[in-house]
Amino acid sequence: MAITFKLEVVCIGNMVFSGEVESLVVPGIEGQLGVLAHHAPLMTILEPGEVVMKKGGEETVLAVSGGFMEVRPDKVVILADACERAEDIDIRRAEEAKKRAEERLKCPAPGMDLARAEAALRRSIARLRVAEVARRRKTAQKS
Ligand code: ATP
Repeated sequence: MAITFKLEVVCIGNMVFSGEVESLVVPGIEGQLGVLAHHAPLMTILEPGEVVMKKGGEETVLAVSGGFMEVRPDKVVILADACERAEDIDIRRAEEAKKRAEERLKCPAPGMDLARAEAALRRSIARLRVAEVARRRKTAQKS
């Protein structure tokens, strides 16, 4: 059996996930970062993207809007600004947020905060990707 480690995902004071996992992939500031048991301690900023955790052949995917991850000897802690499980994602809302951000980036108003619009775009894309994973899984279960 694969070795597990404790993972906690906390989002604005709410514990979204707490349990043992075998592997974790997070959207680190320097790209996708994989974590297995006994990973060296580290701290990193998270970008908007997908957090994928696996245990016993089961995969859980969360959309995170950014935050921090700390790998400690006893557990891994993710502190996210906002975070949703696939089934809680409002697809239409994410599509609208994506459209808004794309329009802002296409014709930036003078003095517009480009980084903010880019972050909004990345958040919406992450939400849509995570929702799509859930949709594909549901379809696969039915067939
Ligand atoms: P919007 O412009 O639609 O508000 P946003 O990216 O600015 O999107 P955030 O500031 O990241 O939104 O999140 C605010 C709150 O709304 C958080 O609690 C987040 O979990 C929730 N949220 C945002 N978008 C969605 C969505 N598409 N589905 C479900 N919850 C969402």
